[in-house]
Amino acid sequence: NGFARLGLSGALLKAADKAGFASPKPIQEQAIPPLLAGSDLIGIAQTGSGKTAAFALPVLAHIAALGARRVPKGAHALVLAPTRELAVQIEEAFRLFSRGAHISTALVLGGVSRNSQVRRLRDGVDVLVATPGRLTDLVRAGDVRLSETRWLVLDEADRMLDMGFINDVRRLARATHPKRQVALFSATMPSEIEKLSLELLNEPVRVSV
Ligand code: AMP
Repeated sequence: NGFARLGLSGALLKAADKAGFASPKPIQEQAIPPLLAGSDLIGIAQTGSGKTAAFALPVLAHIAALGARRVPKGAHALVLAPTRELAVQIEEAFRLFSRGAHISTALVLGGVSRNSQVRRLRDGVDVLVATPGRLTDLVRAGDVRLSETRWLVLDEADRMLDMGFINDVRRLARATHPKRQVALFSATMPSEIEKLSLELLNEPVRVSV
């Protein structure tokens, strides 16, 4: 399996196999090694390129490396996505790749019951996938804390900008742990997204497919 060459091992290699991923896609080839090494990353990639696995597999590898430590109040990893549909797909991918591995995931989306989301987050989760608007509400209300979140993914950053979420994204990102690792994926790099990445990312590796 070509994913071994990228530095993935054990349960995650099996998960890629089980998902039917025989060989890595270009965005995975380029993004997985630096993300496993702990670098910040800017990935220029379109929907359908395989970018979800490109960030989900390294995030899960980092969480697995924490061992049996308790999940924090809040989440180890946060993925922000522009739409509910995309957030749902991302969470499904995390669940698929972590099946049987005692990884907890949660979704925070607008338009569905707030209370059940808050309850799910009360004890903390490994991976939280959220749309920026609703997560901002929960953080403001003190229902979620991001201060222990050390892995942050901004997916389809240009669409989050188009949808008016840029300042929510900025505030949420700043609320995460100061030593976070950040991956930003975007199909295009408008100047507002360049500016955001300059603010939030530390010497990012740039990859493009
Ligand atoms: P994404 O761009 O992450 O939404 O992925 C697009 C589609 O490609 C999804 O249906 C994935 O399951 C599939 N996919 C991702 N990586 C691979 C791979 N290495 N081999 C085969 N299919 C893949």
